Amino acid sequence: MPGVESVLRVLKPYKLASREFHPDPTRISVGGVSVGPGSFAVIAGPCSVETEGQVESTAQLLQRSGLKLMRGGAFKPRSSPYSFQGLGEQGLQILSAAAGRHGLTVVTEVLSEYDVDLVSRYAGVLQVGARNMQNFALLKALGETRLPVLLKRSMMGTIEELLLSAEYIMKGGNPHVILCERGIRTFETETRNTLDIGAVPAIKRLSHLPIIVDPSHAMGNWHYVPAASMAALAAGADGIIVEIHPNPAEAMSDGKQSLNYPHFEDLLTRLKELAPHLGTAVN
Ligand code: PEP
Ligand code: MN
Repeated sequence: MPGVESVLRVLKPYKLASREFHPDPTRISVGGVSVGPGSFAVIAGPCSVETEGQVESTAQLLQRSGLKLMRGGAFKPRSSPYSFQGLGEQGLQILSAAAGRHGLTVVTEVLSEYDVDLVSRYAGVLQVGARNMQNFALLKALGETRLPVLLKRSMMGTIEELLLSAEYIMKGGNPHVILCERGIRTFETETRNTLDIGAVPAIKRLSHLPIIVDPSHAMGNWHYVPAASMAALAAGADGIIVEIHPNPAEAMSDGKQSLNYPHFEDLLTRLKELAPHLGTAVN
């Protein structure tokens, strides 16, 4: 047709998330940290917000360690309706108060489209949990916000499905999506899930979006978390989100996979040693 200079065949079903039209990697700036190439973001904190003291001690540890992004769940997606469901808005208040005192930004899960406004008042990054990767009503609502979204791969989601879920958010007008590999369900039972470390280079090739790894939910056992974190760094991930607790034996959720503070500090030391050899730096 006259006036048409070239026609590009769209090969991937996800257009905005694909490298095809956006060859350069995307960096997402949040709370003074750039998530993307050249920076390995370490997001840490408890599985669930339990008490003010617990979150305050986490925030102090992160500040001391030079980290900026604190995780913590206030709305918890629990397999059993009888398990602790999180403190809700009170948990968000505890998180944001501690974050404010220590110059941190909150990363926390939003479970439903009805809670997006509420959680956005306290959070710097909105987390979509594995169980909600294909909650399309939630993804559409997040497309209307401009806060960065941490989108976790579901336990049975393919890489293409993860990228299509990112596409929902981006199509809505929010380009700030960080992907997260958190383990997929396989026949293995020693680990809670199977960390699909291969997803990291695959997603790097297919998409310009940053991809981080959650070694805690992938492994389900704190003993395995340091090695999985180092593997994430070596595989080219843009960061990790890791569960820590001042006293994992007493955690209200996911104590088994939570690092105590000394073990977390050891891990940070090792990540900081390795990062420069891979052209990146822990943030
Ligand atoms: C979490 O990060 O607290 C969580 C519930 O993780 P996932 O959605 O990956 O199971
Ligand atoms: Mn957890």
